[in-house]
Amino acid sequence: MKYKLITFDLDDTFWDIAPVIIKAERDTRQWLHKEVGEIEWGSMSDFLGIREELIKTIPSLEWDISLLRKEIYKQKLKDLIPDESERDHMINKAYSMFLEKRHEVTFYEGVYDAIKSLASKYHLGILTNGNADIYKYDIGKYFDFSKNSFDVKDNKPSKPHFESAKNVYEDMSFNEIIHIGDHQINDVFGAHDLGIKPIWFNNKNDEWSQSFDKPDEFSNWNDCTKLIEEIDAR
Ligand SMILES: [Mg+2]
Repeated sequence: MKYKLITFDLDDTFWDIAPVIIKAERDTRQWLHKEVGEIEWGSMSDFLGIREELIKTIPSLEWDISLLRKEIYKQKLKDLIPDESERDHMINKAYSMFLEKRHEVTFYEGVYDAIKSLASKYHLGILTNGNADIYKYDIGKYFDFSKNSFDVKDNKPSKPHFESAKNVYEDMSFNEIIHIGDHQINDVFGAHDLGIKPIWFNNKNDEWSQSFDKPDEFSNWNDCTKLIEEIDAR
């Protein structure tokens, strides 16, 4: 076997994330409204503006999305709850609620069986820019490690996620690793750039739009183990 380790992205690779985040956001906001009154949340572009401003003041927010979310709540609640400790208490409660709801995902069909079968042959790990915790799910038992952007103080496609995956093992080189993810830059380019074998999870029938060759791809998790067998036998 050429490959020893397979790493996986989470959001939009194991599950669809947009509807989950939208619902988590909506439920948390509704709860906050009940607790503290009407909050002016603004539009998506207001939100991105606040985010950009915050990152200028606290650069670590670029990869610390939990703190970023808390900072945004802090701004929104500033006038409604002037007392700082009272406000922080409310922010933490809102954040915990969001995080819990953010984990209410529906795994794509076939993920569990593919992971279970791959775990009998390969080391498996998670590399995510998001804040989902794979160990909250039963499937978590198949993974040696899980690294998010907070752990490595950076985001894919930068090297730290991939390097820290390699460094979990004493004797692992990049060309013994496969990385699977949906994002053409963050996952595929990031892996490719280091000599990791990328596999593109493309269940939305997207066009390949990068300047390097399109990697192997699959759109259905039931096809994943067979594809990897093929790749490993080349
Ligand atoms: Mg993704």
